[in-house]
Amino acid sequence: MISTMQDVPLGIRRLLEHAVTVYPDQKLFTAQGDGSLTVATFAEAGANAARLAHGLTELGVTAGDRVATLMWNNEEHIEAYFAVPAMGAVLHTLNLRLPGEQIAFIANHAEDRVLLVDHTLLPALVALLPAMKTVEHVVVNHGALDAAAVGTDLPALASAAGRPVEVHDYASLIAGRPDTFDWPEVPETTAAAMCYTSGTTGDPKGVVFSHRSIFLNAMGSALPSMMGISSADRVLAIVPQFHVLSWGLPYIAFLGGTELVLPGPFLQAEPLAKMIQKTRVNKAAGVPTIWQGLLAYLEANPGAADVSSLKEAVVGGSACPPSLMEAYDRLGITLIHAYGMTETSPLVTVARPPAGLSPEEAWPYRLTQGRFVANVAARLVGAGGEILPWDGVSAGELELRGPWIAGSYYSGGAATGAAAADPEKFHDGWLRTGDVGHISPDGYLTLTDRAKDVIKSGGEWISSVELENLLMAHPAVAEASVIGVPDDRWGERPFALVVLRPGVEATFPELREFLSGKVARWQVPERWQVIAEVPKTSVGKFDKRRLRQQYAVGELV
Ligand code: ADP
Repeated sequence: MISTMQDVPLGIRRLLEHAVTVYPDQKLFTAQGDGSLTVATFAEAGANAARLAHGLTELGVTAGDRVATLMWNNEEHIEAYFAVPAMGAVLHTLNLRLPGEQIAFIANHAEDRVLLVDHTLLPALVALLPAMKTVEHVVVNHGALDAAAVGTDLPALASAAGRPVEVHDYASLIAGRPDTFDWPEVPETTAAAMCYTSGTTGDPKGVVFSHRSIFLNAMGSALPSMMGISSADRVLAIVPQFHVLSWGLPYIAFLGGTELVLPGPFLQAEPLAKMIQKTRVNKAAGVPTIWQGLLAYLEANPGAADVSSLKEAVVGGSACPPSLMEAYDRLGITLIHAYGMTETSPLVTVARPPAGLSPEEAWPYRLTQGRFVANVAARLVGAGGEILPWDGVSAGELELRGPWIAGSYYSGGAATGAAAADPEKFHDGWLRTGDVGHISPDGYLTLTDRAKDVIKSGGEWISSVELENLLMAHPAVAEASVIGVPDDRWGERPFALVVLRPGVEATFPELREFLSGKVARWQVPERWQVIAEVPKTSVGKFDKRRLRQQYAVGELV
């Protein structure tokens, strides 16, 4: 028996149409270099998205073509987020922090035909463009730049390519075009956007999101039990639009009428603090390193910015140190821990404690990665392939399944979009996350480590994340990262690399003593080193691969 419901595909087009008709006056704010913010209503951004679709059609973009972006978080990038998928093409967000050769590799692999780029990134693009073999058109977003300067950089870019590439100015491309577009009705399983994982191992891998997966992930993410974002919120979207579609925030915003503040390239603590003060956002989203930086600024400059409007921030991308949550609690800002990955669109879990608990009782729940969002099924798999119980103790690799969980990587070969089988990552209809942890009987996931970062000492496992979180709670420690190093006797032993706070001293025996009693004796590292800074990946996570390359075994204590 089939249902009596109308057969209407889920799609980006629907989110766009909804936003411009139901929330036309909600706003997008984009930060500018002089500290001001430009404002566009959803109706204006929607009209520009239609104009962009007309402009791209004139450039020859048709269904399935990849339109790449090399852009910060800004209004024009949001317009591309809607125009490109809604017209049936595929939005490909390039991670501008990756090394040039990786960006070119990714653009070639995806066979990007058109590239939208922020003018501030042109110096980098001039060097890259010759290696981006499939790009035929570059559209430069000059944003709110002074009219006299707009377009002066275009001829140099055109000649840099070394082959015929047409270069356009974004505002000119969309100017004078109709503010509506006859959006096609595309099947909901059609590719809408793609994003490559940051490639901590091997070449970056392409994940292709469908209209359906983006729509459903946005609905799931907005839920009160999850990110809890509504039309009553104004959100500072710090997580870059080139990092898993900014955790879906543009789509969540148009779904629920949420106002967004887009920081552009101004991600340092001081401009972020000023943005919070100026726009009075009540929510925000970003990785832990951003919150560490903002905290250090607020502590060093008391009264420099009024951040009292901010009540809640979703933190994910890597484990959030408990000491960071405590520090923000003292500022009246609740950090909400969330977990996901590029392959999961990204939302998987959010740590909201059950009802009726005191802050002390709620605390342990907040430290977990949280409960699973509806639509995402989870299982824990042990070393021998056995499915483990949700008993809060049994630890295994987390596997996931659901309508916004990747079932394969993009293998290239555009026309068919043939899927890449990768048994290391996908088996049995499940995604292997490479994350290790346990799940409590009431459904809270605790990740203890990434499978490749866990330290295997004498047949037992040591969680690098646990040691890092404990060390970062020491008053002298600003950052800590723990990696496994080869050891003749134990196979592997933990090696702690610490960044000390300016002007504060701590000896290694003191730090060892600090850990004793908090973890088993044999888990306490005996190899130590002070470093100036923990190297970060392109999306701000501790880069353990570089740590392993740069540091040998440290000082034995
Ligand atoms: P990459 O794998 O290149 O870092 P992603 O941004 O997709 O790219 O990262 C996903 C990974 O980040 C997850 O598999 C997990 O290891 C880690 N991660 C994300 N959120 C959290 C979290 N809240 N706690 C612990 N680890 C997290």
